[in-house]
Amino acid sequence: MTLNSETTLEGSDDLSWDFEDLQKVGAPATILPTVMLRLGLADSYFSIETPIGAVFVASNPRGISAVMSADDGASFEHAFREQFGRPVYPATDGASVLRSAVRDQLRGEPRGRLQFDIRGLSEFEQAVLRKALEIPRGEVRPYAWIAREIGHPRAVRAVGTALARNPIPLLIPCHRVVRSDGVIGRYGLGDENKHVILEEEGAQPAELRRLAKAGARFVGSATTHIFCFPTCRHARRVQPRHQRMFASEADASSRGFRPCKVCRPAPLAMQA
Ligand SMILES: [Zn+2]
Repeated sequence: MTLNSETTLEGSDDLSWDFEDLQKVGAPATILPTVMLRLGLADSYFSIETPIGAVFVASNPRGISAVMSADDGASFEHAFREQFGRPVYPATDGASVLRSAVRDQLRGEPRGRLQFDIRGLSEFEQAVLRKALEIPRGEVRPYAWIAREIGHPRAVRAVGTALARNPIPLLIPCHRVVRSDGVIGRYGLGDENKHVILEEEGAQPAELRRLAKAGARFVGSATTHIFCFPTCRHARRVQPRHQRMFASEADASSRGFRPCKVCRPAPLAMQA
């Protein structure tokens, strides 16, 4: 049996069983990772510096599969295998392209869309993460917004759980989802780090907290009569003298304000 670079994932089920057996009997250590990676039975990884320290990024031909913080490569390899049930090996060739794509994404200068491998998650969890990807850098949305946008308005707690289980934090920006009361909330990479990342992205978390405490959950423009979440790029453009603050959607609509179609702070039915 030969294996070359043309071998694809498709139709390789029989091959993969052979190679799992091969692993048991002890294939040469230098060949095995290459074969496993090519067959999609293992992922490769590199580490990269971020505003919250170095993190490990794993990927396979389907896309990026994990972002984790760990003390070192060995700890990461162990944690990855525990969580995903397959091995992960240090990336050799080819990782430089992905590494610079990830770096650009983290800097807020994406040159294209990153691909993600979230096949291990439920449909609901995948919908939550895909929705989180829509939140622009420098902005945040409440948990309830995600729940409503994916058609499960009552599943706010489940949204929180799905975000907490996000296997690809930082790149799938679960940190951009916060509580409606302005509390930044929990974060898989450390609650304090969530604040650090939001600050770094320009979301001004301390200001959000101050607004929420003052009962200002939405910002409207007295000139357009449109209201937004405070971090929406449209809300940020409203001059202070034209700003109107609202405690609730009902408050805003009772004063003749319509929800922004970009950040969608209220259900579709309320939109003009
Ligand atoms: Zn808006």
